[in-house]
Amino acid sequence: MKVKVWGCRGSISCPGPKTVRYGGNTSCYELRADDGSLLIMDAGTGIRELGMALARQMPLKALMVFSHTHYDHVIGYPFFVPFFVPGNRVDLYGPVHYERSFKSVMTEQLDYSFFPVRMDELRADLHFHDLREESFESPPFKVQTLYANHPITCLAYRVEADGKIFIFTGDTEPYINHLDGDANADEDEVEEVREVIAEQTQRWLAFLKGADLCIHDAQYTPEEYPRFKGWGHTAMDVAIDNCARAGVKSLLLTHHNPTRSDDDLDALTPRWREYASAKGYSLAVAFAEEGREYAV
Ligand SMILES: [Zn+2]
Ligand SMILES: [Zn+2]
Repeated sequence: MKVKVWGCRGSISCPGPKTVRYGGNTSCYELRADDGSLLIMDAGTGIRELGMALARQMPLKALMVFSHTHYDHVIGYPFFVPFFVPGNRVDLYGPVHYERSFKSVMTEQLDYSFFPVRMDELRADLHFHDLREESFESPPFKVQTLYANHPITCLAYRVEADGKIFIFTGDTEPYINHLDGDANADEDEVEEVREVIAEQTQRWLAFLKGADLCIHDAQYTPEEYPRFKGWGHTAMDVAIDNCARAGVKSLLLTHHNPTRSDDDLDALTPRWREYASAKGYSLAVAFAEEGREYAV
């Protein structure tokens, strides 16, 4: 398998001279199996360029999986050219939240108040599938999902094909005990939450286990993180620690903060490589770069 990054920016697109190298487009990744089978992850603004590249390869058959439906992960969806062309078939998978189907959420995005094109004007053969924590197969891909920790239902994806394991975490934050340090909290309750967190963390590590390549949310530096606790994103050091603990071979840090310039990311790269090596991790660490292709 190989994966190409079409957008790795978090929260909002931010084109401009300071984001030329790592890119300003939001979340979108193209995963290709060795036989050419296509699995697209997320439809942030990066999907527009992917759609134009794929327009040369139609008729298209593809899977499209969504971590969640926050704008930065779906806003490019109606700009994906293959959706407008009959003969293309795309199976779209995304999380159910508050018992609302994935299709109903995506259809609402195409309401006239937000966008001039309606869902029934998309001429491709589109099949929507609701996902919870589960597994499904679409050869050669075997896909498994796990709930990430985010302010809305968000799925992490573990994809196996060609004897390799690829992980896309979507947006996620480590589980934290909000009662820690609260002098009024009941000690039993604090302990109970602590146990749940330990269990959830173990499930997360088991999900990441042995991946050849993991694309992991790492929006914040550890210095920034305390100000954004509870916003649903991970600090860079924690993403590295978790991937190392889970025996991941290669890590691409993603969901770059919109304020982070190319120079900032360049400057942070040696910091995290030194951090990983000082801890004795055999984990390759890099910041995801838009337009770049990586072997899984
Ligand atoms: Zn996001
Ligand atoms: Zn989000």
